[in-house]
Amino acid sequence: MEVSRRRDLWTFAILFTSLEMAFMMIAQLWFYPPELHAYILAREPLLMLMVSLPVCLYLGGKMHETHLRKQELRAMVRRDRLTNVATRDFFYERLAQDPDAYGVSLMVDIDHFKQVNDTHGHLVGDAVIRGVAEVLKANCREEDIVCRFGGEEFAIFLHHVTPEQGQDIAERMRKRVAEATITTRDIALSATVSIGGSLKAAAQDINTSISKADAALYNAKAGGRNRAVMSWAKDCAA
Ligand code: GH3
Ligand code: MG
Ligand code: MG
Repeated sequence: MEVSRRRDLWTFAILFTSLEMAFMMIAQLWFYPPELHAYILAREPLLMLMVSLPVCLYLGGKMHETHLRKQELRAMVRRDRLTNVATRDFFYERLAQDPDAYGVSLMVDIDHFKQVNDTHGHLVGDAVIRGVAEVLKANCREEDIVCRFGGEEFAIFLHHVTPEQGQDIAERMRKRVAEATITTRDIALSATVSIGGSLKAAAQDINTSISKADAALYNAKAGGRNRAVMSWAKDCAA
């Protein structure tokens, strides 16, 4: 049983106190001789209420706290703390729940990101990762999944899109990232990303699609960066 809202605490406490009182009254009336019944009925309910209600309220409070901690832990597992996009674990969890999902997988990697860290420091680097994540998320729909796959890399699954739509979305993301200005600590920066894309058919393992998208990403890097390459393109050596 979970006490998910603060106001459920009283419901929990009153319900359990009532149940306990009913059970104890029946047990006592059964246990003690009939001549004591009037005495028990007159005094016991108040006594039990005074003891049981605070105990149930305390236990309900603890259950509510446990519920909140569980929610926090669930959020930590699902949301990347730096960027607030999904974690890699949640990405795989969502796709495992929907093995028949089909669409386009994208692997996105920030170009020459090490230079940002080396020139401006890691905190500015973090802001760039956050800024890129925001642009990627803003260019996806609710049903798509954007996750931080690792360091400065993102994996995206675009649900139910055709190859043409997937390519257009990837190209749009690439452009929007390049156009965006990320301002942090009075420094205005811009970044570019390279994107690799591949198709995922229904019932196909997501990792097969991710591997192909990764190979296409490698092509995008080798081709000069700041570009989107789809694994099905003629000029892609994936
Ligand atoms: P390329 O264009 O080939 O992708 O070059 P790159 O410099 O982006 O690639 P590389 O893999 O050499 O560098 C990625 C860097 O990302 C290295 C690592 O220190 C940095 N990095 C990884 N995670 C984080 C993070 O959470 N915050 C910051 N600031 N940097 C990170
Ligand atoms: Mg990388
Ligand atoms: Mg990189």
